[in-house]
Formats: sequence, structure tokens, C-alpha cells
Amino acid sequence: MTLVDEVKARLTIVDVVSDYLALDNPSSRTPKALCPFHEERTPSFSLSLDHDSWRCWGACGVGGGMFDFVMRADGIEFKEALEKLARKAGIETELRNGNADGRRKGRKSALHQVNEVAEEFFFRQLEGAQGEEALAHLKSRGIDSQTACRRGIGFAPGGVNSLFAHLKSIGADSQAVVQAGLIVKGEDGSWRDMFANRITISIRDPRGNIIGFGARAMGDAQPKYLNTHETAIFNKSQTLYGLHWASD
Ligand SMILES: [Zn+2]
Repeated sequence: MTLVDEVKARLTIVDVVSDYLALDNPSSRTPKALCPFHEERTPSFSLSLDHDSWRCWGACGVGGGMFDFVMRADGIEFKEALEKLARKAGIETELRNGNADGRRKGRKSALHQVNEVAEEFFFRQLEGAQGEEALAHLKSRGIDSQTACRRGIGFAPGGVNSLFAHLKSIGADSQAVVQAGLIVKGEDGSWRDMFANRITISIRDPRGNIIGFGARAMGDAQPKYLNTHETAIFNKSQTLYGLHWASD
């Protein structure tokens, strides 16, 4: 996979353009906005999620993909636009040496590994019967299960030890599970899942390793947003800016 393909696989046109413009209907497949490239009162600038493209149907009469948009909006060359979007997608371009798969082959720590198992578990729950309500909520915001998978979004079911039981059943490294903050000790001294009945999103470091999770409550549970506590691989103050959904 080339860097261009990898960026396109990780970002949608809406992810990119919504950093620049207020979209009229961001959860639609074809959001609209006032064209940033000419003066207008009614929106003639529209996006197509299906084609990951944009077009001004008004005075400009031009369009393109996410790289074209950033080049035009920032007045920069393709290479700079690619670097900018790769950074946004969490891809560390400097360390790649042209090998898109290099970082995936690198040895992962035990904590990263259990986080990957957890991500997969959360995603399967989202697609399963227990995740029905969560998936409906996401769909109402324009995120289908394919997009959820691509963005590391899943669902931690209710109950005290859904994930814990799964990790045990596959013989996961229990020390790593605790150290990764996936399970926590309750007041009564028993272990329970850190996240229950919440939509989860993986938080990755620039190399793509999963270092923790953010989780949004379904319904009125408090706190609305909950994140992995500080661990050896997760430092909130350094990484939380990457949580794009924190404002919804
Ligand atoms: Zn225009």
C-alpha cells in the first residue's frame, strides 16, 4: 500500500474538509458548505463520501480529492499536502523509509498486543446483537460499520467483565491486561472491565500502535467520556488531542 492509499484508507473527505469548513449536514453522504474558494451566500460546495471527493458547482466549477482540497485551501504542493494528511491520519512519515508495512512488522509490546485484541473484541461487539443500539447511533452520524472498523471504533458491552472474560478465554497475558488499563480493580477489590456500555475508539501513537481507548457513554451515564488511565504506553497529556470525537 502506498502512503497515498494508506492516507485515503484512514481518512474520509469529510474528516479532511471539516477541519476547514462548517458543513451543513456532516452526517449526510453528500454534505454541503459555502465554497471556501469563492464568495457566495448559498452553499454550492459539496462533498461525496462515496467518492471521497469535493466539488464547487458554482463559480469555481472545480473539484477533486482530499489532496487537491488541502493543496488549494493551504496553497501548498502535493508533497506537503500528503505529509500534512499523513500526520493527521497518524502515520509517521519520517520513520517509514518508504516501507508502508514496516511499522506493522515491528515487534509490538505486550501492552500494544492486548490492546489490539481488545480493539478486535470491541469491533465484533459493535457488529453483534449487543452493539445494535451503538451502531444505530453511529449510523445516525454517518459512520457505518465499515467506517467504524477503519477508524478503530467499537463497542464495550455492559456487564462487569465481558472483555475480561474474553481475554481470559484466549489466555491473554494477564499482567499486560492490567497494565494496559483494560481492567481495573473495583472498590470491593474485584476486577472489572474499564469500559462498559460505551462506544470505544482506539487511540494510536504515530506508529499506529494502539496505546489506549477513548469511550463515550451510551445514554446518560457519567462521565460521558472516559479514557484509558495513564499507563506505561499511554500519556494523556500527550495524546488526547488526537481524539477527534471529543467535541460531539
Ligand atoms: Zn467555488
